[in-house]
Amino acid sequence: AGSASASTVKQVKLDRESELRIEVAYDSPLRLRLVTGTAEIFGTELPPQIWLNFPPRLKLAVFSWYGATIEMDGTTELDYTADETPMVSYVNVHAILEGRRNRAKATSSNDSDSSQGPRVIVVGPTDSGKSTLSRMLVSWAAKQGWKPTFVDLDIGQGSITIPGCIAATPIELPIDPVEGIPLDMPLVYFFGHTTPSNNVDLYKALVKELARMLERHFAGNAESRAAGMVINTMGWIEGIGYELLLHAIDTFNATVVLVLGQEKLWSMLKDVLKNKPNVDVVKLQKSGGVVSRNAKVRQKSRSHRIKEYFYGLVNDLSPHSNIANFGDLVVFRIGGGPQAPRSALPIGAEPAADPTRLVPVSINRDLLHVVLAVSFAKEPDEIISSNVAGFIYITDVDIQRKKITYLAPCAGELPSKYLIVGTLTWLET
Ligand code: ADP
Repeated sequence: AGSASASTVKQVKLDRESELRIEVAYDSPLRLRLVTGTAEIFGTELPPQIWLNFPPRLKLAVFSWYGATIEMDGTTELDYTADETPMVSYVNVHAILEGRRNRAKATSSNDSDSSQGPRVIVVGPTDSGKSTLSRMLVSWAAKQGWKPTFVDLDIGQGSITIPGCIAATPIELPIDPVEGIPLDMPLVYFFGHTTPSNNVDLYKALVKELARMLERHFAGNAESRAAGMVINTMGWIEGIGYELLLHAIDTFNATVVLVLGQEKLWSMLKDVLKNKPNVDVVKLQKSGGVVSRNAKVRQKSRSHRIKEYFYGLVNDLSPHSNIANFGDLVVFRIGGGPQAPRSALPIGAEPAADPTRLVPVSINRDLLHVVLAVSFAKEPDEIISSNVAGFIYITDVDIQRKKITYLAPCAGELPSKYLIVGTLTWLET
């Protein structure tokens, strides 16, 4: 055959317990299909013969337990097969969780402790494969008919919604390898920054709020309760990052702590949790396939997440541009801001910024290119404890006419006039 007409389809044979690791090209998508055998992507089985379209830049592994033939069509940044993976240890963890779910289900739902399925928290440094392992665990559970709750506390690279948020959602089906987590009804709290150091107390307050809501949900739903939850965390594990991990373990009453890729963190956690006999601290190997991302790549991927929120994964959504009067919207920042003037305080007292104080923000050009959250709160004092309906992006602020133009996922009035602003910005490209 002439090379000009040669197909770009490449066939790859996977032996049992091996995987094909792929970095999709930066500027073009990749088609891939399973031709023979069985294979999965991060815990979700591939349908036989059907071409799947992966967007540019995606990094993935196609793993086969018993052997498979895969076809790829398109160019990749990188693709290779690996037969050394930690998958057997991961699926062993899944089997243990499965046992606990079954035990929880078999218990009468009056006994709140024993009817509670596993509460798993995945911790480790950045790029240790935390999100990927979390995803596998919920997908494997969903494949067996459970509806585990996936919780994402990673405000930097969360997988449920845009950056700057913590969120939770029930997983009813194995996660689609292309589409990711379905965004039907996630429970989302807006922190507004991509690093917790901007306001550690607020971060903790939101984690508590999210945990409290889930606790309430579990109390009334035996099925969710038995399925348990899988909590993904941030890669910040030193200093305050470590403190926040302990806070999350405690707040969600985690019963299984999976530590990826760091002996030191595992031994520290094991030590600090040793007097909690119902908490297992398990060390797991990091996969050699996990791709490291530098600060610039992370920033880029945050930007893509925001774009995806408004425009869809492949530009398949059309956001609406809306115009509002300044007076129609009420914008708040949480914490920081101007402290109480010294003159207003008793002599000798130091002004302290209340980290969870609501600070009204006047609408001006500073809001241009800022991403704001739309709160579900009915009154301002409910804002901190309320989850958010969604996000808007400010594209124009007309001071003269007192009009603000913003992008929203849908047309019509916002569900609330209360907006929260942080430091999250986006430059539409
Ligand atoms: P973390 O959550 O610890 O920061 P991730 O789970 O997000 O790490 O993994 C980092 C990147 O590596 C992601 O893009 C993910 O898709 C990719 N990745 C993870 N495991 C593999 C693998 N076995 N082969 C190829 N890519 C992988």
